Amino acid sequence: MNLILMGPPGAGKGTQAKILEEKHGFKQLSTGDMLRAAIAAGSEVGLKAKAIMDRGDLVSDDVIIGIVSDLMDRPDVKKGVIFDGFPRTTAQAEALDKMLSGKGQKLNAVIEMKVDDEALVARIAGRYTCAKCGQGYNDNYAKPKVTGVCDNCGGTEFIRRPDDNEKTMRDRLAVYNKQTAPLVSYYKAKGNLHVIDGMANIADVTAATESVLSKLKG
Ligand code: AMP
Repeated sequence: MNLILMGPPGAGKGTQAKILEEKHGFKQLSTGDMLRAAIAAGSEVGLKAKAIMDRGDLVSDDVIIGIVSDLMDRPDVKKGVIFDGFPRTTAQAEALDKMLSGKGQKLNAVIEMKVDDEALVARIAGRYTCAKCGQGYNDNYAKPKVTGVCDNCGGTEFIRRPDDNEKTMRDRLAVYNKQTAPLVSYYKAKGNLHVIDGMANIADVTAATESVLSKLKG
């Protein structure tokens, strides 16, 4: 099963992808996470991507398509992939179609998480994660039960992404609305678009996603 989770930054794609990964054994493929790993490793791709990401622009299609195509050859993606943050342009969507058909696979569904831009700014400007296990938190909605201690692993160090601030967030939303939102029509025309309410709470969004998946299986 190959799925795309589509929606602006902060829509909850990463959260839902992790839940689906755990439940169904699909592999989350987040191009943003891969780029952040490349930056942390100090690789050439990472060095080039950092300035672009910090201002909220898109990394070039060639670089992104190269990263995704390398990953699609790994054995742990055999059960299926949840694409999170990819594709973001029509060129990337077309490249994905080619990659999948070259492997005799197909895209089973595109789930668009509909959200409100202003609510997203508040969501994103407050988010942070545990440095040890990656558990997500938010100053406004989801603080740890004990201040400064991760509920999941007891870690006491937390990190905030440099692009999770109001100015960059507004730029990232503008880029999404201009370059990525047109993909909704691309996938609608192909007949595999499913729209869900991304403003609902995490459990309800998961239930809506599962309902799309069960229709696909049934
Ligand atoms: P994300 O974690 O998905 O919000 O991505 C963070 C940043 O990484 C984006 O603002 C872009 O600069 C870059 N990025 C991630 N995925 C892509 C992609 N598919 N195409 C271009 N740039 C990307």
